Amino acid sequence: MKLKRFCPKCGVGAEELINGLCLECSKKTTQAIDAPAKITVLVCECGRATEKNRWIKYENITQLINSIVFENIKMPKKTKINIDFELPKDFGGAIIPVSVALKDMPDKIKTIEFILKNTTCPSCSRIHGGYYESVIQIRAKKALKEIYDFVKKELESYSKKDKLSFIVKEDTIKNGKDLYVGSFKAAKKAAKKAESIYKLSRKTSYADFGMKDGKKLTRATILLKE
Ligand SMILES: [Zn+2]
Ligand SMILES: [Zn+2]
Repeated sequence: MKLKRFCPKCGVGAEELINGLCLECSKKTTQAIDAPAKITVLVCECGRATEKNRWIKYENITQLINSIVFENIKMPKKTKINIDFELPKDFGGAIIPVSVALKDMPDKIKTIEFILKNTTCPSCSRIHGGYYESVIQIRAKKALKEIYDFVKKELESYSKKDKLSFIVKEDTIKNGKDLYVGSFKAAKKAAKKAESIYKLSRKTSYADFGMKDGKKLTRATILLKE
């Protein structure tokens, strides 16, 4: 005769525990798991994705699917689940069936249709749209190229953290360069560094250039002079 075991949840004696519980309790746990039938996620080629309007950076698609599925499942505390899916080769617009099962229990309990859609995120569309928050005006005779190269390199080095640290366009004039920079924060940082290294004077002026979501948009012009 098999040794009787007891369900830790209800105390009933059972010959076999499923997922650590008696059959009844295990059924209840399964029923208490609430997963949506469908999850749609927008992904941008820059490595950002959104579900419910919040853009997040992701490492890879597998990690992204796992974390979003976990966020969307409601289940009793301490329930352990397995998430299983296979990535298609080309996942633009793909529907990926994701199965959710209780850990140590092979029967899958829910299948979620995970839909990945390619799109352009707000920062990428700003870049493509020529958006800029700042203009760096470099005015110098001798060191113009040096300062220009320095500022450009600085901006590039911030671009990993600040997607808008990017030169949208540039103009060359006599003894000077105008650099149109997507991010004001990045422009200010690079200009400050150039100021101290090349012993320049720095002056910033601001102008409004429109409204967005009820907020005034300000554009800054930073003048760096030898
Ligand atoms: Zn039980
Ligand atoms: Zn993007």
